[in-house]
Amino acid sequence: MRRWNGWGDESNDFPLKPEGLAFVRARLGEARALPDASLPAVLAQVPPSRLPAHPLIDTGAETRVRHARGQSLPDWLAMRSGEFGIFPDGVACPRNTAEVRTLLDFCLAQDIEVLPWGGGTSVVGHVTPVASARPVLTLSLEKMDRLLALDRDSQIATFGAGTPGPALEEQLKAEGYTLGHFPQSFELSTVGGWVASRSSGQQSLRYGRIEQLFAGGIVETPRGTLEIPTFPASSAGPDLREMIMGSEGRMGVLTEVKVRVTPLPEVEKFYVGFLPDWASAVRCVRALAQGKVQLSMLRVSNAVETQTHLVLAGHPNLVGWLERYLRIRGVGDGKCMVTFGTTGTKAQCRAALAQANALIAAHGGVNAGTPLGRKWESTRFRSPYLRHGLWEHGYAVDTLETSADWKNVPALVDAIEQSLREAAGGFGEKIHVFTHLSHMYPQGSSIYTTYVFRCAASYAETRARWAAMKQAASETIVKFRSTISHQHGVGRDHAPYLAAEKGPLGIAAIRALADHFDPQGIMAPGVLLPQQEDNA
Ligand SMILES: Cc1cc2nc3c(=O)[nH]c(=O)nc-3n(C[C@H](O)[C@H](O)[C@H](O)COP(=O)(O)OP(=O)(O)OC[C@H]3O[C@@H](n4cnc5c(N)ncnc54)[C@H](O)[C@@H]3O)c2cc1C
Repeated sequence: MRRWNGWGDESNDFPLKPEGLAFVRARLGEARALPDASLPAVLAQVPPSRLPAHPLIDTGAETRVRHARGQSLPDWLAMRSGEFGIFPDGVACPRNTAEVRTLLDFCLAQDIEVLPWGGGTSVVGHVTPVASARPVLTLSLEKMDRLLALDRDSQIATFGAGTPGPALEEQLKAEGYTLGHFPQSFELSTVGGWVASRSSGQQSLRYGRIEQLFAGGIVETPRGTLEIPTFPASSAGPDLREMIMGSEGRMGVLTEVKVRVTPLPEVEKFYVGFLPDWASAVRCVRALAQGKVQLSMLRVSNAVETQTHLVLAGHPNLVGWLERYLRIRGVGDGKCMVTFGTTGTKAQCRAALAQANALIAAHGGVNAGTPLGRKWESTRFRSPYLRHGLWEHGYAVDTLETSADWKNVPALVDAIEQSLREAAGGFGEKIHVFTHLSHMYPQGSSIYTTYVFRCAASYAETRARWAAMKQAASETIVKFRSTISHQHGVGRDHAPYLAAEKGPLGIAAIRALADHFDPQGIMAPGVLLPQQEDNA
């Protein structure tokens, strides 16, 4: 069963190994775990629902608790402390487009706010209800989880918008296809959520971001039904898909999603190599991206992330052997790990591997082969469980991300990490911070920073530490004129920073679009556009 107060399935865990715990303690000091609230204690706080009765709406306390929060760090702190504050007034799980329409019409008639819910994996407060004079309905797409049609000639599959990653890939695999969209939240996130929040998967280098995969579909908006037809390409004015991608529930509810699928690859392998230092590592992956080498994934970790991964792997003897070998090859302290994949026909993979090996060698690096690559593959969707492993020992972990042109990447990585260190220093605390680049483009790259810090003596203080660090890093990103999100979206947490990126005219245009589709303003108020914008 899915956890009500954390990530994933209750039967799965990723405990911190002794070497990992010692490593974190050495960097941050001893920590004490904060007490967790129990489910019965939280259920007892759920207030009576303000919703009028409707056969499609469940107002039971447990359903409301289980749909009250996403996966941001503030969400996590709320779930662990039991201090939810606000719960949705009810949850509806429609089974088809017609039921979504019925629910939207009911909400319009009764002046009810609607929060669409895909897999609830948002890390930026998308699905978190806030205080409102109107009742709030969380509209979960979880029962719309099936492959509805497959056009083999055009390679377009139509899915219910609530289909989560594993179910989507299983149903496609049975037909000989893959979508190839693998965000780290794959286990729980859904195809509708990917579109609504402009998601990017680990193998975007081969398959593209969701922007390239989303072909069309059906959106039920408060104003009516928007059907987005599929074209291979079109020059007929602005693209309707662009109004829906990244709309974060503001324009309506995606009910059916058409995606571009690919026949299953003949072979797929993942490799791990090492470069002598960060500067050569960044130059190497930039050359791979700009040389359009046909890799399916590419990630480069800075030296601290590399060291952290090697320690957390928990195989000190094997890692010791690897490090001795690398040293002989001229790759020692300060080394940076590059993880990459080849996917396709045997000939395509051979060619890509040869080109990658040549570029790694030309930058002074070594390809250590598939053993660590297989390890990455086997744990690629398990690492979110590590938040539990750290939490049990009194440590909190969060991530943030952006993207930047290559000329700004190294300076921005340093500035983000430094802003986090300084903000933590303001509390007299250290943080363990590290970064990787995981989505490469000829123009630039995503930047993904992870930071681990000690919980304070109370939840409120821990939240304050997080807020200071998040604000400092977000302001740094804005100062560099980088995007406030490469893949997590805007939600509520990034909404205050969006205006810096879009400008007043851009924000007004997004606002006008939301008002057009939703004149009564019932769809996810405060998400994407800041609350004051909503009240303006
Ligand atoms: C551990 C972890 C790892 C992650 N890794 C990645 C990653 O690698 N890449 C990445 O891109 N993201 C990642 N994320 C972020 C998150 O998974 C993505 O934003 C994802 O696209 C959200 O999908 P979801 O189905 O869970 O949507 P939700 O979180 O339920 O909703 C997200 C937003 O989309 C809206 N929405 C959802 N479904 C619909 C619909 N059918 N119609 C209209 N609006 C809808 C919601 O209202 C909300 O505004 C990660 C999150 C976690 C917790």
